[in-house]
Amino acid sequence: MNSTRTKEILKVIDSGPFIIAGPCSIESEEQIHRTAQDLSSKSVRLLRGGAFKPRTSPYSFQGLGYEGLKFMREAADLNDMFVVSEVLESDQLTNHHELIDIIQIGSRNMSSFGLLKQVGRITAPTGKPVLLKRGFSATISELLNAAEYIINEGNPNVILCLRGIRTFEQIDSYFRFTPDLGSIVELKEKTNLKVIYDPSHATGNAKYVTQFSKAAIQLGADGLIIESHYKPEEAKSDKLQCVHPSEVGNIISSISQLEYEIH
Ligand code: PEP
Ligand code: MN
Repeated sequence: MNSTRTKEILKVIDSGPFIIAGPCSIESEEQIHRTAQDLSSKSVRLLRGGAFKPRTSPYSFQGLGYEGLKFMREAADLNDMFVVSEVLESDQLTNHHELIDIIQIGSRNMSSFGLLKQVGRITAPTGKPVLLKRGFSATISELLNAAEYIINEGNPNVILCLRGIRTFEQIDSYFRFTPDLGSIVELKEKTNLKVIYDPSHATGNAKYVTQFSKAAIQLGADGLIIESHYKPEEAKSDKLQCVHPSEVGNIISSISQLEYEIH
């Protein structure tokens, strides 16, 4: 049974290609408010931002935690947006799931089956969507099985996210990951779940975000998740792949043009 809030989110998600955008990490009250405002002026309704960050190095910025989540909740409410944010572990999920509208399970946790079952159980009563990112070494069937762990606990509203995979190409490529655009086509044939693309992590380079966004939509993706910051050059994490909200606006315009051409 979906709650009223979930129904509103599903309406956004069902009404054509949908865009999730926002900073990699929530860095300050000002940063998330300014970014939310700018994105909202480009008609973005789904605001992303990491409060709990899975950083490769324990010495990198780890996110503002609960404090950051509260800043983002306020910024989203003020701009009529929904909050998309990642939880890394069980306690964060139990303590903070109510502040998040779409719960993100990151690439590094795609195979944390205990966490997947728990997120399924906790979101079953509301049907709040769960955004499940493909593990960067996971096959398509592993991703689909991971989704089943959530669905089997009673929440069918899982959104699958492709975000690039690790292959031998990384040895001398200038992409951060190998963009897995082909998997969009395969997933769209194999599942009825929503499939979205993350051009930011897949390419790791702001220069390619627009091009890969368009390609993903053309291949049938239901939406995109894009890292964006009102001052991209100052982003505390994933700066190289971060675009200004005005670029998200341009992407939205090119996508509507594409839609027009495709249909
Ligand atoms: C993120 O979305 O900022 C993130 C950490 O993504 P991934 O889990 O795909 O690396
Ligand atoms: Mn990131």
